[in-house]
Amino acid sequence: MAQSSIEWTEMTWNPTTGCTKISTGCKFCYAEIMSRRLKAMGVEKYAAGFKVRIHEDQLLVPYSWKQSKIVFVDSMSDLFHEDVPLDFIKKVFSVMRDNPQHVFQVLTKRAERLFEIHKELIWAHNIWMGVSVENEEAKDRIDLLRKTEAKVKFISCEPLIGSLSRLNLKNIDWLIVGGESGQRPRPMDPSWVLNIQEQCEKADVAFFFKQWGGRNKKKNGRILNDRTYDGMPEIEQQLYV
Ligand code: SF4
Repeated sequence: MAQSSIEWTEMTWNPTTGCTKISTGCKFCYAEIMSRRLKAMGVEKYAAGFKVRIHEDQLLVPYSWKQSKIVFVDSMSDLFHEDVPLDFIKKVFSVMRDNPQHVFQVLTKRAERLFEIHKELIWAHNIWMGVSVENEEAKDRIDLLRKTEAKVKFISCEPLIGSLSRLNLKNIDWLIVGGESGQRPRPMDPSWVLNIQEQCEKADVAFFFKQWGGRNKKKNGRILNDRTYDGMPEIEQQLYV
C-alpha cells in the first residue's frame, strides 16, 4: 500500500497490476507510464510491466493497517479486466468485507464485466463502486453501474474530454470531475464542468472537483466558482468503531 496524492483518497492498494487500453480516456494512462518506469527500476511487483498480474500476497495487506483508511483499489490496474479471474475478484471482495473499518474505492472502465458478474459478488457499505466516464460515448457505463447491487455508486469524469449533458444520476452517490494533466493534455472546457456541477446539485449528488489539469496542474489548481468542491458520500460511522 502507498500514500496517495490523489485528492479524493488517502491510500492506494493494488492486488492486481497491469491493464490494456479500452477507450479514449486511456490515451495517456498514468498506470501504464508508472508501470513501465517501475519495471525499469527493477521493482519486482512490476517485472511484467503493464501486463495484467494478480498478487495473492497483497490480499493480507489491509489486515495490517492500524487506522481506518480510505483506499483506492487498483490505481495501477482495472480489477474488472477480463484477465483477472472471477475467483480472484471474489477474494478481493472478501478482504474488503472483512475490513469494514476501511472504505475501498473500486473504479473501472469495464462496466460490462462488472454488470456481468455483480451478482456473484457480495457487496458491503464500505465497498464504493465507480465507473469512469470521460465523454458521451462512455455514458452507458453509468446505466450498467446503476443496475448492480453496489451499495455506494460513483462516477469519475476524469479525464473529462467532452461535455456530458443530461446525465442520469439516479441512485448515484458521488461524482468526481478532473481535467487531464501531463505533457499533451486534452483541454477541458469550463462550461462542461459547470454544467456537471449544476446537474449534481439538482440531483443531490456529492460533487468533487479534483483539478483543472493541464501541463501545470499545480498552478491551475482546483478552484471552481471561487471555491473548492470536496463532496463525498457519507461514511457510515459504524465503520470506524
Ligand atoms: S482502464 Fe485505466 S488502467 Fe486500464 S489502460 Fe485504461 S486508464 Fe489505464
